[in-house]
Amino acid sequence: MRYVIVGAGEAGLRAALALHQAGEQDVTLLNGEVLGSYERPALSKPSPDGLFHKPIAADLTGIKLQSGKKAVGIDRGAKRVFCDDGSGVPYDKLLLATGANPRRLYTAERDSTLELRTVDDAKRIYEAAQPGGRAVVIGAGLIGMELAAELVRRELSVTVLEAGPRALGRAVPSILADMIVKRHVAAGVSFHFDCKITRISAGRLELADKTTIEADLIIASIGVDPEVSLAATAGLECANGIVTNANLQTSDESIYAAGDCACVDHPIYGLRRFETWRNAVDQGTFAAKAMMGAEASFDAIPWFWSDQHDLSLQVCGLAEDRLDAVCREGTDGSIMLFYLDAEGRLVGAAGLAPGNTIGRDVRLAEIMIAARSAPDKSLLADTSVKLKSLLRS
Ligand SMILES: Cc1cc2nc3c(=O)[nH]c(=O)nc-3n(C[C@H](O)[C@H](O)[C@H](O)COP(=O)(O)OP(=O)(O)OC[C@H]3O[C@@H](n4cnc5c(N)ncnc54)[C@H](O)[C@@H]3O)c2cc1C
Repeated sequence: MRYVIVGAGEAGLRAALALHQAGEQDVTLLNGEVLGSYERPALSKPSPDGLFHKPIAADLTGIKLQSGKKAVGIDRGAKRVFCDDGSGVPYDKLLLATGANPRRLYTAERDSTLELRTVDDAKRIYEAAQPGGRAVVIGAGLIGMELAAELVRRELSVTVLEAGPRALGRAVPSILADMIVKRHVAAGVSFHFDCKITRISAGRLELADKTTIEADLIIASIGVDPEVSLAATAGLECANGIVTNANLQTSDESIYAAGDCACVDHPIYGLRRFETWRNAVDQGTFAAKAMMGAEASFDAIPWFWSDQHDLSLQVCGLAEDRLDAVCREGTDGSIMLFYLDAEGRLVGAAGLAPGNTIGRDVRLAEIMIAARSAPDKSLLADTSVKLKSLLRS
């Protein structure tokens, strides 16, 4: 069986390794980037010595890795992928792991804003980030907020502009988001919420309320769009990502999709696209098994983390303000929120703490969510009750 994988990010790489480890001999990995696979999360969380390029350690012996080569077309009838160097690669099973692209801001002067997705983007940002400089981050999402923390650590004065009423509005409960903002403010970051930018030119931003902000560095961190151009041109069903069934199979039974580009029919959450590191790892590995014939549903509970200043955030499942929430506060400054649905079943949890003290509790919450547990709310809130004891509820 000939397997071709487009994209050597986290999802594509994990799929290639899983196929190879299962004994498959003919695995081609098309890496659109010239660099080998690396960890994107490290780009916005450099280590204390400033290093942000963290290659993924993996033995690719036996995998046909083609770096710097982009797939530009798929002939689904002939089962062939065409590349930008004119070559064609035949497949029996094809995995699209093409990731996502950062949204760009339309600005008066082209290239007056930077984005962060690749090592080259990170190089551009950190080279321009000189101590004493003025940085503006547009967008208070996870990546924007992590960047703000890193830039203030590098001794820049940092302003975050957010169109919405609060930070981290898409994925993080408001109580925790407010605590994170407070920590940023204590570190010297300024915020403008409900903010409308009317003009950006090199070195200057104008807001609708007539404020002007001078900046040496402007970074737009306003979300990503799934990279679906290859899939859409090939006629595969796309809607906020490449649509797949629960087995990660697209509308063509020989073609699968995984990671940031895939919009998956999840048995608990419905048709959803996840943009997280662990999802890319899990879907990549799952897609390999599915391509080898395993029939299962991708039902992993979504989970992500973020590090900002000395705070560590972890969220699993659905942690949304509209749900019934139970709060458990630790004596060490940690806080855990549990989210229950109308039937009292645990569907999400989120924790915030200095260091990584909430990791274990979030993991236990994940197990309870997967088991569809309906824990007693007073016991959930009681820190003298070990979470582990609620696993059977
Ligand atoms: C700065 C940053 C910080 C992050 N921090 C966190 C975090 O703290 N926690 C968390 O959970 N997640 C985090 N994420 C998200 C996480 O990194 C992504 O969800 C994950 O990397 C997605 O992996 P992927 O393989 O689906 O896509 P990608 O990593 O985007 O890989 C897709 C690859 O496909 C290639 N490609 C695209 N089209 C083609 C083509 N036609 N031919 C060949 N190759 C092609 C692309 O060049 C790319 O290399 C962060 C992301 C960024 C950018």
